[in-house]
Amino acid sequence: MRVLIIGAGVGGLAAAAALLADGHEVRVAEAADAPRTGGAAVTLWSNGTGILRALGAALDGAGAPIDVMEQYGADGRRLVSIDVARAARVHGHPNVCLPRRRLLGLLAALLPDTVVEYGRACTGVVQQGGTVRAEFAAGPPAEADLLIGADGRRSVVRTHVWGRDPGEPTGWGTWQGLGPVPVALASSRRCMMITGRGGSCGLMPAGDGLLQWWFDMPWSPDWPPDAPPLAAPLAEIRRRFGHWCAPVPDVLAAVGDRDVELFPHYRHRVPRRWSSGRVTLAGDSAHSMPPTRAQGANQALEDAWTLAAALRAAPGDVPAALRAYERRRARKAGIVARHAAREDINRLPAVVSRLVPDGLTGVYYTRWLRRVSDFLP
Ligand SMILES: Cc1cc2nc3c(=O)[nH]c(=O)nc-3n(C[C@H](O)[C@H](O)[C@H](O)COP(=O)(O)OP(=O)(O)OC[C@H]3O[C@@H](n4cnc5c(N)ncnc54)[C@H](O)[C@@H]3O)c2cc1C
Repeated sequence: MRVLIIGAGVGGLAAAAALLADGHEVRVAEAADAPRTGGAAVTLWSNGTGILRALGAALDGAGAPIDVMEQYGADGRRLVSIDVARAARVHGHPNVCLPRRRLLGLLAALLPDTVVEYGRACTGVVQQGGTVRAEFAAGPPAEADLLIGADGRRSVVRTHVWGRDPGEPTGWGTWQGLGPVPVALASSRRCMMITGRGGSCGLMPAGDGLLQWWFDMPWSPDWPPDAPPLAAPLAEIRRRFGHWCAPVPDVLAAVGDRDVELFPHYRHRVPRRWSSGRVTLAGDSAHSMPPTRAQGANQALEDAWTLAAALRAAPGDVPAALRAYERRRARKAGIVARHAAREDINRLPAVVSRLVPDGLTGVYYTRWLRRVSDFLP
């Protein structure tokens, strides 16, 4: 079957790898002129790493394994610790934080060089009879038997399926970066989440001595006067977080304005229907969510895996396969999106997290991962 995927992010490349392995004729059209190199790091949990391994990606040695997530108050009091290594043991796949460019490289390595076409921004989709045609800002249109919109939060393909962008800002944003910050945490297997008045900070090793750091603060599209200025946000970030517990001051001293990227948070209710005829969605186009549960890329991998399985189970009947796919994925991605939309790490009162016994958090987390996964048994 001829499959056209719009977008060469995590969801698009993973879907391409899964469908190529099943013998389909796959092309990926990407708007950017070259593979993406920004976006700091992402954390893949047992569901994401399990799918990567099943696709044949060479994950060993990539990024940093994460065994424990510790939450602190801004004054340095430890509030709660989540033994995420337990989930890795039970599910048989590690938790890994790795640079986004490295993850995209692992997925791209599964594809022949000619599969991804860069500089191909999709502008519209037309369905006629048994085929679907995509139009592009430059170059000729392309025809396929199945089109997958993996074109991210501002999806053009979603407009064809849902008619509008359902996303709305949550009122928060992440200012983040990735680099060789000289703190011990950068070469550890633990992640620190620090919550205080006016926001939160996360610090996570990402392999090769790199540290992924982020600051969550209130943000809105009309750019409130107290939000950090776009071009030089660090002075404001240092003013708000510079007095927090170690190693936050050391991290802030080691980074510069050019290291910071801003990602506003968006959420929406995940609808049950993701498909129309021979067109469907995967990844953020279907379920953009705030990064507070660190599951967006993992759920994009889940989509790719489940879509390939649904097409195998209904050979020759694309609309039926897409119904089965969206039935499974809409429910689970919907749970994650609902949880992530609470922005709980940004709001969690210290007293609540102190009441949760450490021993229970690992058990809860292991179960939660299974609940939001179609891959984990
Ligand atoms: C600050 C932050 C931290 C995060 N941390 C984590 C984490 O730790 N763990 C995790 O699992 N997730 C995390 N996420 C979420 C994760 O990054 C996304 O869910 C994931 O990247 C979605 O992948 P995608 O392929 O659906 O979309 P994208 O990665 O957005 O890729 C979409 C691709 O489509 C291309 N495109 C767009 N429009 C068009 C068009 N018209 N034509 C052709 N191509 C087009 C884009 O250029 C892009 O390459 C985080 C997100 C943010 C913002």
